[in-house]
Amino acid sequence: MENVDELEIKKFESLAARWWDPDSEFRPLHEINPLRLNYISQQVNLAGKHVLDIGCGGGILAEAMVHHGAKVTAIDLAEASLSVARLHQLESGLDIDYLNSSAEQLAAKSKHKFDVITCLEMLEHVPNPASVIEACARLIKPGGLVFFSTINRNPKSYLFAILGAEYLLKLLPKGTHDYGKFIKPSELALWGRACNLQLTDQIGIGYNPLNRRYALESNIDVNYIACYSKPE
Ligand code: SAH
Repeated sequence: MENVDELEIKKFESLAARWWDPDSEFRPLHEINPLRLNYISQQVNLAGKHVLDIGCGGGILAEAMVHHGAKVTAIDLAEASLSVARLHQLESGLDIDYLNSSAEQLAAKSKHKFDVITCLEMLEHVPNPASVIEACARLIKPGGLVFFSTINRNPKSYLFAILGAEYLLKLLPKGTHDYGKFIKPSELALWGRACNLQLTDQIGIGYNPLNRRYALESNIDVNYIACYSKPE
């Protein structure tokens, strides 16, 4: 059985035309993009690296990584988002290889191993995150880095990521996230260890409603990015 929630894919397809509108439902992703790219660049110099971006959507992160010198292959299962991504890269004059594939499908059919894998804001939208992590372990080169970002699961994250972001501040449409699918850093680490991926670093992304700014912070109670390495 495929590890995909078709309703999630439909949800993203229905918004696809607005991927590159910075004032749309995707505003938070546009705003955190420079922050997460800085974080990734601190862990690894992207120049010349072959990066796989899993759950790429309209290509916000993929394009930014190309600007940092990476060669990017990007996958998603939402065809409408991939169409937008392909059109947008023409406008940007970039050359990203966009494929309609899940991580598991790519791991099953491709022998190619990547230097870096990014899988951001995606694991909380699939039925079986451990299976995506296992596919990443198969797709990454020894010595390579895999970045996951998702939302922690605790009362504070319910308050901030669901009530705060979707109901009070309306940063995201209601129903964007399902609390039950949030992932504790310890769960991510356990799934990583099971396929020989080691946690090397993690960092939080916080939102300040007063100045409406996001920032990287040491607190990982709500949104966080984790960096895993595959031993040589
Ligand atoms: N990674 C991007 C987009 C995050 S939104 C960013 O952070 O900017 C989540 C994306 O995951 C959507 O584009 C959705 O279509 C995709 N997605 C959901 N389930 C998937 C699956 N099983 N395989 C591949 N992509 C998936």
